[in-house]
Amino acid sequence: MKLIQLYGDRGLKIVKGEGQYVWDINGKKYIDMHTGIGVAFLGHRNKIVVDYLRRQMDQIITLSNSFSTPIKDEMVSMVDKIKPDNMDNIILLNSGTEAVEAALKTARKITGRKKIIAFKNAFHGRTSGSLSVTWNKKYREPFEPLVSPVEFLNFNDINELSKIDEQTAAVIVEPIQGESGVIPAKQDFMRALREVTEKVGALLIVDEVQAGFGRTGKVWAYQHYGIVPDLLTAGKAIGGGFPVSALFLPDWIAGKLEEGDHGSTFGGNPLAMAAVTAACKVLYDDKVPEQAYHKGELFMKILKDKLADLKSVKEIRGKGLMIGIDSRFPPATTLKVAQDNGVLVLKAGVTVIRLLPPYVISQDDMEVAANAIREGLLKTESQRVTS
Ligand SMILES: *Cc1c(COP(=O)(O)O)cnc(C)c1O
Repeated sequence: MKLIQLYGDRGLKIVKGEGQYVWDINGKKYIDMHTGIGVAFLGHRNKIVVDYLRRQMDQIITLSNSFSTPIKDEMVSMVDKIKPDNMDNIILLNSGTEAVEAALKTARKITGRKKIIAFKNAFHGRTSGSLSVTWNKKYREPFEPLVSPVEFLNFNDINELSKIDEQTAAVIVEPIQGESGVIPAKQDFMRALREVTEKVGALLIVDEVQAGFGRTGKVWAYQHYGIVPDLLTAGKAIGGGFPVSALFLPDWIAGKLEEGDHGSTFGGNPLAMAAVTAACKVLYDDKVPEQAYHKGELFMKILKDKLADLKSVKEIRGKGLMIGIDSRFPPATTLKVAQDNGVLVLKAGVTVIRLLPPYVISQDDMEVAANAIREGLLKTESQRVTS
């Protein structure tokens, strides 16, 4: 029996995770800035999350959504503290791509239109609907035709927005493109996008599966832009490490959804609800977004101090604790050198080293990481010179 390996193998066997660290089978400790692509943002085995999950496991693990539970009530009131503006409704699902599917279906139902607009370099997931709005041809083209008619526009290009018209059901956008290289949307672009979609009656979906839930220094990344979207998808970090995703909706949209419009066997199971409740509690009580903002500023300064002089470094960018180092070269060597030095980071796009640390990261960790990345970049540069 073999488990198919659809992800590149990092060559490590990990046996434990606690806070910002993981340990391999040989007892070697790593600072985790990979965090399962941002999932462990609240730290591995966050105590509150573990407590909530434990307690729930002792009560009931699985139950149809047709029944009520105390944890459902608690979840709803806890999510209320961190909900996106005007979005008093939530649907729980299991993965980011499912939240995107639910958003696209909702937009089509509400508007009665079919066309979806997405952006070049966008990543929204790998099931057919989400894949249809994902830009990377390597992921998408072998499976075409996919579902909705989709048009891809240049990201951050206001001139393109005139292509959003009365046939458009929705525009889906990552406020900070994650997979393609940590590329923040520009202020005027997001504002213009909000204006145009409102004018033509298309829904604006912000996909915050990666950027949302405090990581960028605000609870939700769209809050950097002074706009309010129509639908918001969240995932990755929102269960404190437990697999769960969400679609947030305002009343005017939620009110038009009917029984049967969407569903999921596991969506909103009691364990997922316990995890989301705990994660929201941590986010709120520990002022996680503010901490991510301040630590992000500090980390950015440390990275610039230690790396900006390298000729391989083109740009260091990001918001809060979502940081990309554009290194001109494929980052494989840097990832390996950092890993050997006890620091896990990941790739984004073609040339970007992506850092998605947990909010519990310390200044020491940041300095160790910056030094390890520096060593990796220097090695990359020397390989480029000799090859
Ligand atoms: C990871 C990601 C997804 C897909 O989430 P899965 O849980 O892997 O299905 C969708 N959108 C964005 C922006 C992501 O980063």
